[in-house]
Amino acid sequence: MPRSDLVALDKRHVWHPYTSMGRYRDQTDPLVVVRAAGSRLWDADGKSYLDGNSSWWVAVLGHGHPRLVSALTEQARSLAHVSLAGTTHEPAVRLAEELVRVAPAGLEHVFYSDDGSTAVEAALKMALGVWRNEGQPERRRIVALEGAFHGDTLGAASLGGLEVFHRGWSGGVVECVHAPVPDGEVHGGVRGEDERDGRSDARSEGYRRAFDAMHELVDAGAASIAAVIVEPLLQGAAGMRTYPARYLTELAAHCRAHGILVIADEVFTGYGRTGTMWACEQAQLTPDILCLAKGLSGGMLPMAATLANERVFGAFLGEPERAFWHGHSFTGNPLGARVAREVLAIYRDERIVEQAQPKMRRIRQAFKAMGAIPGVLRWRALGMMGCVELASAGGYLGRGGWRVYDEARARGAYLRPLGDTVYVAPPLNIADDELDELLAIVAASLRAAL
Ligand SMILES: *Cc1c(COP(=O)(O)O)cnc(C)c1O
Repeated sequence: MPRSDLVALDKRHVWHPYTSMGRYRDQTDPLVVVRAAGSRLWDADGKSYLDGNSSWWVAVLGHGHPRLVSALTEQARSLAHVSLAGTTHEPAVRLAEELVRVAPAGLEHVFYSDDGSTAVEAALKMALGVWRNEGQPERRRIVALEGAFHGDTLGAASLGGLEVFHRGWSGGVVECVHAPVPDGEVHGGVRGEDERDGRSDARSEGYRRAFDAMHELVDAGAASIAAVIVEPLLQGAAGMRTYPARYLTELAAHCRAHGILVIADEVFTGYGRTGTMWACEQAQLTPDILCLAKGLSGGMLPMAATLANERVFGAFLGEPERAFWHGHSFTGNPLGARVAREVLAIYRDERIVEQAQPKMRRIRQAFKAMGAIPGVLRWRALGMMGCVELASAGGYLGRGGWRVYDEARARGAYLRPLGDTVYVAPPLNIADDELDELLAIVAASLRAAL
């Protein structure tokens, strides 16, 4: 179908996610992607774009990795789907065993679902169910961090600490309180100041203040709190905000002292994004519940997993009333599970996290340099993520980032800003020359837009 017809039909019928549709119909000329391979997308006119955000953070191994394509097609020939209720199959079983082996210690039980939001929903219902089954149903509040994003289904959205996303949906089934996060330039710097790192920040006054406030909140409410949920080290949707590992370590220890469950949402941070396979590792955090999606299937299929330890799993044993009555039509889908196994195999065989370390240093150097561009307020880099915040400060609905998006698109890169935060989160196996090209495009686009 000719590009213009496609766009006309799209504007007539497709309701896009996170999109102001009136503005989209009037002003947007969408990228029409016809093909993707490695770190590049191709549009209908044959022009290519470096995928600066791994297609919403999912394509951790780039697009169309030949081993993932083979795994998918082979699996489709033998078994595309069967329910997982009282039935089982090799992809689900072996993936569970392999996930348990690479996950933080003690997470021995794997519950499958479809995407990040459903992985978080399962985690929330597990946490609430543990306390109900342990005879303390009054423990039903969840502590999340300010600026949190845990997904868009109603329960997950109730945890949101970003006003623009959760207004209209909060105050539902899930009762949430927000704990302050240290507000400092961890893993980055402010224009005109020396660079600070996580360690020095962890001793600062701002850090203490945030920690003390969180302490008080937990102490005062312990008897009504079921769990705390965190995006470890890096809050993606909040604008790629980072906080020190030590805050996480202390928060977890403090919750443990009150018996509060700890849920790590590694939907974005997992699979090496922050420099280690799991961000939890950097804080020596072993959560009670771990949520995985996005990178889990290498961005190929919707597939997610919620891992639980013995305390959580054990609380649902016994009489049938105690069981975890929860699941989805596609729970444990064989296609997704088979591809997810291949993702783990590629991480092992190609030493993905290790080979990405020099790329992480390149990202860091480049964003540190971009921190000096007039109009840039501050920069941050952590693992395979680098970002700058623009001084225009319009928040998530700010337009500053979109000017940079337009400039980058003209130069052959696909960026998707978070308001005034312009970031890259490319595939972990992006080729060095493509990474350099991407970073150069971001810098040139910033200069042109600001
Ligand atoms: C993206 C994201 C989610 C939601 O995942 P979906 O697959 O979009 O439902 C949840 N938590 C975090 C930390 C995320 O980044």
